[in-house]
Amino acid sequence: MSRRRQIYEGKAKVLFEGPEPGTIVQYFKDDASAFNDRKKGTIVGKGVLNNRISEFLMTKLGEIGIATHFVRRLNMREQLVRAVEIIPIAIVVRNVAAGSFSQRLGIAEGTVLPRSIVEYHYKNKELGDPLVSEEHITAFGWASTQDLDDMMQMALRINDFLSGLFLGVQIKLVDFKLEFGRLWSNDEMRVVLADELSPDNCRLWDLRTNEKMDKDRFRQDLGGVAEAYQEVARRLGILPESGPADIPDPRLVR
Ligand code: UDP
Repeated sequence: MSRRRQIYEGKAKVLFEGPEPGTIVQYFKDDASAFNDRKKGTIVGKGVLNNRISEFLMTKLGEIGIATHFVRRLNMREQLVRAVEIIPIAIVVRNVAAGSFSQRLGIAEGTVLPRSIVEYHYKNKELGDPLVSEEHITAFGWASTQDLDDMMQMALRINDFLSGLFLGVQIKLVDFKLEFGRLWSNDEMRVVLADELSPDNCRLWDLRTNEKMDKDRFRQDLGGVAEAYQEVARRLGILPESGPADIPDPRLVR
């Protein structure tokens, strides 16, 4: 990990300078945090699974014409991405009420929403990523009206596509968070999907039992977190039969 210059270390990932200008290496850690960093832990094998799941989903989105920062997976824990200027607005798309939405509006978790709802959150940890409106975003210049239009259109397409993809493997896409960045080539700028797409930033429920298969298992101490992430990968058909290589196999104790 030390052979490259580190650019940034976040909760779940470390970013390194990539091999060519304009590229970045994303290293996926096993560390997890929740409730604005008030809860911290390690989920053994999570980084490997999220690297693979995010690669799979970003590649599929690329195939339907959604521009993303993803270039290619390099190894078990690293992927090469294009360096983008991250827009400080997280886009949350919701299909079913859960988490902070249920708390804020008093709508029971599991209530199917009348239509998909898109929220903007200002990315600022000290403030706890507050919910903001288009007015706030454009008034303070965090993103332009054009950026927002692009993000909204892409978010809704991503929601339709991923909802169908997960439905096909008996998983309900409850909600998820997206981050976008500005990618410059010569004098042209376009907004592309960045960050990662994994059970760390999606709520995924088993279609039949509503069992949680995402980071809520960690947030709510439900146990079996790594197993749930692994099951998501298995259903998507991207888990080798032997499991991720750097997760030690269980040992028989006599
Ligand atoms: N989310 C995320 N990072 C955050 C906050 C939320 O990836 O810092 C994801 C979360 O996993 C869920 C969706 O965004 O899929 C909506 O989360 P919510 O606003 O309900 O907040 P939470 O209840 O997770 O605090």
